[in-house]
Amino acid sequence: MTKLQGSCHCGAVRFEVEEPEWVMDCNCSRCRLYGGLWAYYPENEVEFAGAPDTFTYVWGDRMLEFHTCRTCGCATHSTNVDKSDNYPMAVNARLLRGISPKRTRLVQKNNGNDMVFWTHTESPVLPSHDEPPPAK
Ligand SMILES: [Zn+2]
Repeated sequence: MTKLQGSCHCGAVRFEVEEPEWVMDCNCSRCRLYGGLWAYYPENEVEFAGAPDTFTYVWGDRMLEFHTCRTCGCATHSTNVDKSDNYPMAVNARLLRGISPKRTRLVQKNNGNDMVFWTHTESPVLPSHDEPPPAK
């Protein structure tokens, strides 16, 4: 497997992950505004360079903390509020250097319930629901 390095624009938040097999474009009210493409991993498979210096934002069912770089504002990753939960964490695959749509599949998730996406894929759109995505 290929390891890829990710970084926010200013470089304050840096991490390394395996190259994802797929990334998720979600059209919920938050992801639509952040513009992230999410790649999912067990928390112990995301290697941060030091403690990430981020703001966190929690909303809705208050299950997830959405992290943005405290300096440059990039949406970097999300973690679980309940640390005993095995739900995978997400990193924003747009921050990964060397990621390619030729190798990584795009999956769209219709959590916004309006089927509006600005990305294109041949894969079927996933319906809105709360089941955790499989890791990687
Ligand atoms: Zn930054």
